[in-house]
Amino acid sequence: MLTLHQDDVLLDRHAEDWGDALDQAAASLVEAGRATPEYRQGLHEREAQSSTYLGNAIAIPHGTPESRDQVLATGVRVLQFPAGVEWHDGNRVHVLVTIAAQSDEHLDILRALTHVLDREGVAQRLAQADSRTAIIAELSRAPVVARVDIDTLCLDFPAKDRFELALAGAARLRQAGCVNGDFVSAILEQEPVALGQGLWLASSAYGVTTPSLSLATPESAFVGPKGPVNGVFCLAAQGEAHLGLLDRLATLLDAGDGEALADADAATVLARLAGERAGAETARVRVLNAHGLHARPAKQLVQVVRHQGMPIKVRLLEGSAEAVSAASLTKVIGLGARRGQTLVFSAEGEGAAEALAAVTGAVNEGLGEKVAAFEERRDVDVVDETPVALEPLAADTPHPGVAAAPGLAIAPVFVMRLPRFDYAERAQDLDDERIGDASDVVTAQKERLARALAEAAEQLEALIRRAQGGEVAQILSMHEEMLEDPELRESAHEGIDEGLSAEAGWWRSIDTAARAQEMLADRLLAERAADLRDVGRRVLGLLCGVAMPTPPDAPYILVTDDVGPSDVARLDTAKVRGLLTVRGGATSHSAILARALGIAAVVGAGGRVMTLENGSELILDGERGRVIPSPSKERRDRALLRLKENEARQRDAYAARFEEGRTQDGHRIEVAANLGNTAHGADAVEHGAEGVGLLRTEFVFMAHADVPDLETQIGEYRQAIDALDGRPLVARTLDVGGDKPLPYWPLPQEDNPFLGLRGIRLALTRPEILETQLRALLTAAGDKPLRIMFPMVKDIAEFRAARLIFERVQEQIRAPDVQLGVMIEVPSCALLAPSLAEEVDFFSIGTNDLTQYTLAIDRGHSELSAQSDGLHPAVLRLIQMTVDAAHARGKWVGVCGELGSDPLAVPVLVGLGVDELSVSVRQVPMVKARLRELTLAEARRHAELALSQATSDAVREALEAL
Ligand code: PEP
Ligand code: MG
Repeated sequence: MLTLHQDDVLLDRHAEDWGDALDQAAASLVEAGRATPEYRQGLHEREAQSSTYLGNAIAIPHGTPESRDQVLATGVRVLQFPAGVEWHDGNRVHVLVTIAAQSDEHLDILRALTHVLDREGVAQRLAQADSRTAIIAELSRAPVVARVDIDTLCLDFPAKDRFELALAGAARLRQAGCVNGDFVSAILEQEPVALGQGLWLASSAYGVTTPSLSLATPESAFVGPKGPVNGVFCLAAQGEAHLGLLDRLATLLDAGDGEALADADAATVLARLAGERAGAETARVRVLNAHGLHARPAKQLVQVVRHQGMPIKVRLLEGSAEAVSAASLTKVIGLGARRGQTLVFSAEGEGAAEALAAVTGAVNEGLGEKVAAFEERRDVDVVDETPVALEPLAADTPHPGVAAAPGLAIAPVFVMRLPRFDYAERAQDLDDERIGDASDVVTAQKERLARALAEAAEQLEALIRRAQGGEVAQILSMHEEMLEDPELRESAHEGIDEGLSAEAGWWRSIDTAARAQEMLADRLLAERAADLRDVGRRVLGLLCGVAMPTPPDAPYILVTDDVGPSDVARLDTAKVRGLLTVRGGATSHSAILARALGIAAVVGAGGRVMTLENGSELILDGERGRVIPSPSKERRDRALLRLKENEARQRDAYAARFEEGRTQDGHRIEVAANLGNTAHGADAVEHGAEGVGLLRTEFVFMAHADVPDLETQIGEYRQAIDALDGRPLVARTLDVGGDKPLPYWPLPQEDNPFLGLRGIRLALTRPEILETQLRALLTAAGDKPLRIMFPMVKDIAEFRAARLIFERVQEQIRAPDVQLGVMIEVPSCALLAPSLAEEVDFFSIGTNDLTQYTLAIDRGHSELSAQSDGLHPAVLRLIQMTVDAAHARGKWVGVCGELGSDPLAVPVLVGLGVDELSVSVRQVPMVKARLRELTLAEARRHAELALSQATSDAVREALEAL
C-alpha cells in the first residue's frame, strides 16, 4: 500500500506547461530533502525516454537509473493541479506522484497506484479534492486481495471424512496467518456443503484477518455418507474481497475441472484457481529486467500480446494466483513482477502455442531493456541448523510454547540438527588424507565415494534390522535402493572426472536429481526429493567424517524446527514420547496429527529449544504448553507421578461423570459445557454436563446465508434446550464484529478490530436483530431454565440499553425461569462490577477476552499468545473483584473461558468463589474429578497464593510446588 503523509501532498498548484509542472515537482523533492537539485535533470531525461503518464489523470515522474545518485532519501511528493496540465503525450494530468527512489521502490509505488486506475471518477475527485487527506485517501486505498497460494493449500492429507479435511484446510489458513483460532472453531462447528464434482465448501467470516481460500484434498478420493469427496475448500470470507475467488471457483466447476483436483499437484490446483483451464496452453518465463516489470517493459509486453490477436492471460507463479489479461497495462503492472520471478502465460485454441512462444521470447529478450541472464543460485550444500548466539534454556525452569496435543512426557531429548559439512569443491584442494593414495586423484575420489556408499548401505541395513518392519523400515529400504541407483553414481563420477572432490561430485549428483524431482511438483515425488537429500547427507557425512543424527533406541522427545505431516506420520510412536518444535501453532497439521497419534506436543516454542543438549532430560507438558529442561529430582518425581496418575484419573473421571460437581467437602460448583452447535446438547449431557454455561449463538448466525429469522432461531435454540431436559442453558447473545464479521453484516474497516465494533456494541447498532434473537430465546425456553448474557459489555450503560430490549420482549412472552447477566470480558466491567452487580442476575467471566484485554495481547497473536495466560495475577484480581461484587449482592458467577478447564486454575477459581465452571464438552468429566480432589479451604489457599504472585509464570510455579 502507498503510504503518504500529509506533508507529502502539495495542493492547488498551477503550472504553465508540463515542463513547469515537472520543475515544481523536482523543487518539492529538493525542498523535502529527498533529492539534490540535479535530480531535476533526471526527471526530464526520463520523460524524454517515454511518458510517465499512468492513467486517470495521474503521472508518476521519476528519474533515470543514472540519476539515482542524486536521490538523498527515497520518498514521494504529490502535487495537485486542479486546472490540469497538458502532458507532453497529450494526456491531461491533475496529479503528479513524483518519486525519488534509490532502487526499484518506484515499482512498489506503481503497483500501489494501479488500483486507482480501475476506479471510476478518480480523475475528477483528485482534481477537486480540497484537502490533503482526501488526496491521500484516494491514492492510498489499497484493495484487499484474497489469498490462495502454495501455503494455503493442504494436498494429500490423510483424512477420513469431509470434516477432517475442512479442519485441515482451516488449520492451514491459520498457519498461513490468514485466520485465528475463532475461524478454526467456526469451521469445526459446521458441515461442509456440496459444490458438485466431489468438491465441498466450508466457510466462515469469523476470525478472518486476510480473506483466503484453502483446498484440502484426501490422500485418495473416497465416498462419504453424502457422496464422493475429492476435496474440501475452506473459505475465509471478508467483506467482498473473497467474491472474486468464489467466481473463479464457479468458473472452474462450470468447466468441469473440479474432479481432477483430487489428484492434482499444488501447481495445477493454483493454475485452475487462477482461472487457467485444463486444456489451455501455458508457458513460463522468468522476468530478467533489473527492475522488474515496470511501466516501460510492461508496455512492450502488452504490445507484443495484443499483436498475437488472441486472449492471453498472465499470472505470477509466486504469490497469490490470479490470471489477468496480459493485454491490460495496468493489470500487468499490478502483478508487481520482480526480476527472477516467473510469469505464467496461458492461451487457448489454435495458434496458442506459437503466440505464447512469441510472448515468452519477448520477455526473454528483455522487452526493450538490456537484460542479463538470471544466474541460478546454487543451493548451499551445507546445512547448518545450529542456532547462533541463542541463550540456552535454563535448567529446571518452565519454558513456554503452545499447547498442541495433550499429554505429559518425560524423556531424554533428541534434537534433530543437521550437521555442517565442510569440504573442498575441487579434489586438488583436499587435504592429503582425503586425496587418498591411489595412483591418480580421480581414481582416489571414486574409491572414496565407493567406500562411503558401501558404508552407508551397511548403516541402513543395520537400521532396517532394528526397525523391525513398519513404515520406518520401508523408508530406510527405499534409501538403500537409492544408494544403489547407477545413475546417481555415474553422475557423481562425471563430476569427479571434471576435477571435483568426491564430496562435491556426490552432492552435485544428489542435488540435480532432487531438483528434477521437485520440478515435477508432485507431492510424492517432492517427498522423494527430500529422501534423496537425506540419503545424500548420509554419504556426505561419511565422506566428511561427520556423524549423522540418529534417533536413540530408547524413548525420546523429538525436538525439531518444524515437522510436516508426513514427518509426523513417520514418527516411531513406540519411541517418540513427545514432540517439541520451534515453529508452528496449535492448529498446524503437525499438531492435529500429533493429537491423532496420541503424542504429546508443544509447538512454536522458539529457537532456543534447539540449544537443548541431546540426551538431556525434558518434561513436556502438552496440556499447559510448556517444557521443563533438566528438571530437578523433585519436579521430575512429581511429573512422573502425574503421568501415571493421569491415565487412571481419566478412566475414573469418565466413570463418575454424572456425579454433581462438588469439592471433596461438599462445596457445590456447577460444571457446564460450552457449546457452539445447538445439535451438540445431547453429547454434552452424555459427558456429564450439568447444563450449558455458554452457548455461542453466533454459530447459529454463521450457519446461515442471511440473518436467521425468528422461526429458524426458535428451532435452533429449542434443540439445545430440549436436549438439556430441564438443565439450565446460558445463551450468549450474538457476539460478532471486529475481526469476525458476518458476511451479511457489512462493517467498516478498523485498525484495531478487537477494540472496535464488537459484541454488544455492534448488536446495539441493529436492535431489531437483537430483539428477534431475544424473542427466539425466550420463546424456545418455554418453562425451562434460560440464562441470557450480553458479550463485551464495558459498563452499566450498555447493559441497560440491551436490557431495555429484553424487557420489551419479556413483557410479551413472560418466560417464567429467566435470568439476565453480562459477560465479564472487558477489564472496565470487572472494575465496575459493584455497580453492575446491583442490576444483573449473574456474571459469566470470559477469561479468553478478559486476558487479552488485560494483558494487551491479541488472543490470536502467533508469537505472543503463549504469554497470554489467564492465570496472570492481574486477571485473577479482576476475577476476584467480580466475584466479591456479585456475592455481596447475592448473585452467582461463572467462568466460561478456557481457563475454566486448566487443571492448575480450577482450584484457584473455586478458591476465588466462582460458582460455575463452563468448559468444553470433553473436559467436563476431568473438571468434576479435579473438584472432587479439593477441599474449599485448599482451594482458597491456592487462590491466595496465586494472587500474591507478580507474574503468570510465578503463579504456575507456586501452584505446582504445592
Ligand atoms: C471468552 O472470551 O472467554 C469467551 C468465552 O468468549 P469467546 O471465546 O467466544 O470470545
Ligand atoms: Mg469472548
